Amino acid sequence: MNDWLSHRARASPDATALVSAETGEQWDYAALDADVSTLTERLAGLGLGADDHVGMLLSTRVAAVRLVHATMRLGATLVPLNTRLTSSELAGQVETADLTTVVCGAETEQLAVEAVESTDATDPVPIASLDDPQWERVASLAAADAVDVTPTEWTDDDPLVLLFTSGTTGDPKAVVLTYGNIFTSAVASAFRLGVLPGDRWLVPLSLYHMGGLAPLYRSALYGTTVVLRGEFDPGATADDIGTYDVTGVSLVPTMLKRMLDSRGTLSDSLRVVLLGGAPAPESLVTRCRDYHVPVCPTYGMTETASQISTANPEEAAEYVGTVGRPLFSTDVSVVDEDGNPVETGEIGEFVVSGPTVSPGYYDDPEATAAAFGERGLHTGDMGFRDDGGRLYVLNRKDDRIITGGENVDPGEVVDALREHPGVDDAAVVGLPDEEWGERVAALVVATDTNLTAEDVEAFCRERLAGYKLPRLVRFADELPRTASGTVERIAVREALTAPEQVAVADA
Ligand code: ATP
Ligand code: MG
Repeated sequence: MNDWLSHRARASPDATALVSAETGEQWDYAALDADVSTLTERLAGLGLGADDHVGMLLSTRVAAVRLVHATMRLGATLVPLNTRLTSSELAGQVETADLTTVVCGAETEQLAVEAVESTDATDPVPIASLDDPQWERVASLAAADAVDVTPTEWTDDDPLVLLFTSGTTGDPKAVVLTYGNIFTSAVASAFRLGVLPGDRWLVPLSLYHMGGLAPLYRSALYGTTVVLRGEFDPGATADDIGTYDVTGVSLVPTMLKRMLDSRGTLSDSLRVVLLGGAPAPESLVTRCRDYHVPVCPTYGMTETASQISTANPEEAAEYVGTVGRPLFSTDVSVVDEDGNPVETGEIGEFVVSGPTVSPGYYDDPEATAAAFGERGLHTGDMGFRDDGGRLYVLNRKDDRIITGGENVDPGEVVDALREHPGVDDAAVVGLPDEEWGERVAALVVATDTNLTAEDVEAFCRERLAGYKLPRLVRFADELPRTASGTVERIAVREALTAPEQVAVADA
């Protein structure tokens, strides 16, 4: 099979492929295909081909969509890079992923140059800019000679993308995603969410995470439209939905909350709001139900090419906290510490298998062996399955706090805190404690400015066993989060331990 865009351009050349939300400009499949051919030929003109690892250091813009399809046509492996990283963090990824070139734009050129210069390589990785004329360290793709390209034949096991995880639990890991992984994920997503010929999917998420990248591949396969929103702004993104008759959108919970805060509700053109990356607060799901926003909470990860399970809006409203049933072809077992399946309703670690699961981390047999076991991928996520087969994600295995020999699930403490009417959100971690090993600490986002640490502690005391009570409570304006919406636990720890910040009170 060749790249999906070529097939789609032959099957429905006049269908709208892409809309830029910022400018309103549109491309049909024939036009996008022609632009991608030009770019592919220029990449080939720089000497790039099927064996190359092409880094993509670009903001969310139309040129990035072209590059995604062009690397597939070329047969190269795409390596999306996080534009928010520092040059030294990026240098590490350039080396980890064995990049053979970095494609940047005017907006990321400086960062690309600094990153490449920060690597240890004696022969620095070449950089090509989509925008720039020639300068010292950067080749211009616009000026590159074109070379004819025969579109690559892909087979299931070929690596299509190397994608870095969000780095919530440590350094981001480079996940190998094959053609087969991404194809099956798109098919399974269609079976769960349905596809209609007039579908228009809004992409306000970064393209260097699965949530932003996956809709680009899916749309080319389905022949539907991508509406690209470069800069996330809650009001403007909410308005895009009405302006462009958007039927689906991928969001992380904080984005959806801010969009609803800014506009009250969302256009009724929507049929799917795919909400993932982090737990969806109950208040947010209830708000969606009340305002007829068709929210579909989903659980997924980079290693599974996005969705593992997805709930429909009715399930989300009826079964509080569920992320729905596993998608077609994905198997999820819930296992105890010895790897044996637990009973329905009991908490364990999710282990995932099926054709969407990555073959492993790039060039890292140790990390691969640690996570990818006989039964499947050990997700590190803890949760349970109800008797209807629906999954509930509680917390990460590593997040568990052990205080005085007792296990505390931070998710349970967060749930108790969120029940307080003056609390908007909270994160709970264990801090080192000489006497107890760890003690429970909470960073709280309060809507009630008069709320004190004592109030919070008293409220929790009525709901939680003594050893689960937060021993330290501090307040923040918002929780530090990664681009994919997960709480940055390291930053939470820092906020809770920073000496210069005076704790409201030590409970
Ligand atoms: P790293 O693996 O580098 O620590 P990461 O796991 O955050 O980073 P991603 O692959 O982007 O990187 O995120 C997947 C993780 O996000 C899941 O393993 C899970 O912990 C969390 N997650 C995703 N969806 C949900 C959800 N609906 N509810 C709770 N957690 C979720
Ligand atoms: Mg992970």
